[in-house]
Amino acid sequence: MKIHEYQAKEILASYGVPVPKGIATTTVDGAVKAAEQLQEDGASLFVVKAQIHAGGRGKGRTKKNNAKGVILCRSVEEVREAAESLLGDVLVTIQTGPSGQLVQRLYVTDGVDIEKEFYLGILLDRAVSKNVIMVSTEGGVEIEQVAEETPEKIVKAWVEPGMPLQMNQARTLAFSLGLEGDALKKGIKFIMAIYNAFLETDSDMMEINPLILTPDNDILALDAKVTFDGNALYRHADIAELRDEAEEDPFELEAQKYHLNYIKLDGNVGCMVNGAGLAMATMDIIKLSGGEPANFLDVGGGANVETVKNGFRIILDDPNVKAILINIFGGIVRCDRVANGVIEAVKDPEIAEKVQNVPIIVRLQGTNAAEAKEIIDNSELNVISAVLLKEAAEEVSKVLA
Ligand code: ADP
Ligand code: MG
Repeated sequence: MKIHEYQAKEILASYGVPVPKGIATTTVDGAVKAAEQLQEDGASLFVVKAQIHAGGRGKGRTKKNNAKGVILCRSVEEVREAAESLLGDVLVTIQTGPSGQLVQRLYVTDGVDIEKEFYLGILLDRAVSKNVIMVSTEGGVEIEQVAEETPEKIVKAWVEPGMPLQMNQARTLAFSLGLEGDALKKGIKFIMAIYNAFLETDSDMMEINPLILTPDNDILALDAKVTFDGNALYRHADIAELRDEAEEDPFELEAQKYHLNYIKLDGNVGCMVNGAGLAMATMDIIKLSGGEPANFLDVGGGANVETVKNGFRIILDDPNVKAILINIFGGIVRCDRVANGVIEAVKDPEIAEKVQNVPIIVRLQGTNAAEAKEIIDNSELNVISAVLLKEAAEEVSKVLA
């Protein structure tokens, strides 16, 4: 689960990770009040930051006002202008994709003097089943680019499962950033504190980019991207509450209600598959047949009438869908039952209306596949049967042509 920067910083601060002061708001007046409050506390520079579930805001621009997603302001009046230019506009960054994300919330924070910008990231390294902490002197830029061009500039430390982070590991990491004296001590403290926060909250990623050194030798998290393991949220009611559904894809939200494993994509061929691996292969087949997958949808092992109906509802809500490919392998679930389920679902009046102009190609393979094909072929519905994946792909090509 993703959260906003301001929420991430509140959590980090509660674990003793130093962050600049800031106040979140959803209105222009709120932004002005926030700046006045920060000014009273001694701030003379402010930064207004769009709160969306995506990074790259500093280099992004809004569609209408061409405003940056992170704006440095020298007065309360400039904070007002920045807030006006951002709220209600759509911010496009390399992480949002071209459609961008509506800005509904801002974070007004202290403008901080930056001596040096670093990078820090923590996540699970699946290859070795250990958490890894990565730091780099190349802060403020995309870490993927650093990894590609100058991988030697990323220093990593792996933490033994079940063990706390060792002080000497934190020291090695902080030292690799070129920190000395007081700043080195603060850097070590920072790394120990953030790793503890990572463990305690069941986070699955924490990324601080940039982590900064100030001219006063303070170490601060200037940005914070934090996500949590959805399977562990039941242990953290307070974190689960931070979920902002306004930031999530409406299709994916609906799919979650139905307990379907669905990811929205930009293509024109909807697909419904049992099993994640087969779903990936099906998306490849759609591409090979000249289409583009409109979604990833794994209906799981059951594939009964209800799941098929719900799958149809979600796929058909997407106006881009020109055809649907159902690819089910009947192992425990028999193909004839799935075929009947598909037919019944397509007869549902709500679905029937929407599939009038959307051909459905069904490929059922496995137990009772022949019976299943017969059921589909005799149904007199707008449903095309296929036995081989190749045939299914050809049918997709035909209906798209
Ligand atoms: P994003 O990663 O989405 O672009 P950041 O929070 O990293 O957003 O901000 C982009 C850049 O803006 C940072 O690299 C930093 O140089 C500057 N910046 C962000 N917050 C502050 C702040 N509070 N004070 C001074 N500069 C900031
Ligand atoms: Mg950043």
